[in-house]
Amino acid sequence: MRSASERLRWSNWSGTVQCEPERILRPDTEDRVSELVQAAARLGKTVRIIGAGHSFTPLGETAEWMVQLDRMQGIRELNEAEGTATVYAGTRLKDLGDLLFANGWAQENLGDINRQTIGGAIGTGTHGTGAGYGSLATQAVRFRTVLGDGSVVNVDAGRPDWFKAMQVSLGAFGIITEVTLRIVPAKRKRLISFRTTLEETLARLDEWRVQHEHFEFFWFPHTAGTQVKTMNTTAVEARPNRRWNEWSKYVVENGLFWGMSEACRLMPSLSRHVSRASARFVPVFDEVGYGHRLFVTPRLVKFNEMEYSVPAEAMRGALLDIQRAVQKRRFAVHFPVECRYVRGDDIWLSPAYGRDSAYIAVHMYKGMPFQAYFEEMERILLHHGGRPHWGKWHSLAAEQLRPLYPKWGHAMAIREQCDPAGILMNGYVRRLLGE
Ligand SMILES: Cc1cc2nc3c(=O)[nH]c(=O)nc-3n(C[C@H](O)[C@H](O)[C@H](O)COP(=O)(O)OP(=O)(O)OC[C@H]3O[C@@H](n4cnc5c(N)ncnc54)[C@H](O)[C@@H]3O)c2cc1C
Repeated sequence: MRSASERLRWSNWSGTVQCEPERILRPDTEDRVSELVQAAARLGKTVRIIGAGHSFTPLGETAEWMVQLDRMQGIRELNEAEGTATVYAGTRLKDLGDLLFANGWAQENLGDINRQTIGGAIGTGTHGTGAGYGSLATQAVRFRTVLGDGSVVNVDAGRPDWFKAMQVSLGAFGIITEVTLRIVPAKRKRLISFRTTLEETLARLDEWRVQHEHFEFFWFPHTAGTQVKTMNTTAVEARPNRRWNEWSKYVVENGLFWGMSEACRLMPSLSRHVSRASARFVPVFDEVGYGHRLFVTPRLVKFNEMEYSVPAEAMRGALLDIQRAVQKRRFAVHFPVECRYVRGDDIWLSPAYGRDSAYIAVHMYKGMPFQAYFEEMERILLHHGGRPHWGKWHSLAAEQLRPLYPKWGHAMAIREQCDPAGILMNGYVRRLLGE
């Protein structure tokens, strides 16, 4: 028996979810994953699979067994003829990017950080930006998965119902041990960042989102200003990032921003001024490099986040409503609103299911109250046909989620076959899935 002081502790990235699992298991082979799931079933324990803990919601929370695949990392097979890489599910996106690049390959798109595991990123429908690119889950073509009884299955498009259910599955349909990903030859990209107005950004949304392979923008609350970022394949030679840009990314965007965020936490009325200063000092740069480095930005300042997908054509209307609400309610927020595009897909539990999507994310510095702001933004985003990002804060449970997903019933029927006893779920996931 462990004494109280020896209790295991786990926390997510933002520190808002903390728990004391009875055991944290780090199997090094698929056989061991299977054995531990069988042992849990025998002993009446639940097993929660977790990646890098970068979700903002209690997806990993458990007082029973937690499984991490830190010891199952790397590329198992690179099939250049097929254009695929079979990857252990615990592989961090950063390492995956480096390994692929060393062989001349890349993931076609990434989000704005690379600390997540491939299993975890796929599990919540993690996405980057680009109207022609789906979420990371759309890069998956095959899974090896340990089900709730410890058996192992190979799932691909030959078994379409299982495949579409498993592509975004919150760890509730099985423990994925390997993912085969569609990959692309690594190409140089040019990343440009500039500042402009919200008015111009909204007026040129339709042009910019099709003109650029990757387009996103940030609107600074309490201001009329935005930062626009575009990224496109280029023939221009790669050039090292200017020292100022690197310095600005680490010191200005993180260190200085952390200092200003602390000031806002202590005196929320400063938020408006900080947001205005951020809008004025938007980093302006033009870099050439490779995607696995350029897509990502250091995120050292901790925050809470909510993100919803809405139909792509609702971006403008949703943003204008958000702007009006921030003005009217005078929310003490200094983090910008992040706006991206994702191609629609056919993954049953993907927020981009059946529609090209705009993703709108709101953030609040860790330690500052976010509830009222997020709830008001959520109301607006739901009004515009929103579906929440599974890894980020939202208030919905199964009753509200079910009508948002046309294939919900089909997905739940597969989940029942994958893990009839529900040993892979926790209380939070039960609330989401209504099981
Ligand atoms: C600073 C920051 C920036 C972010 N940027 C983006 C972004 O740009 N775009 C975006 O879409 N999201 C973003 N996110 C959210 C993040 O990508 C997701 O929450 C992602 O799921 C986290 O990956 P993870 O490895 O930490 O998984 P975890 O949070 O640990 O787990 C996520 C889910 O995946 C399941 N899971 C994990 N491994 C497996 C496996 N092997 N088999 C089956 N299920 C598994 C878990 O059970 C859980 O339900 C960001 C988060 C942070 C903190």
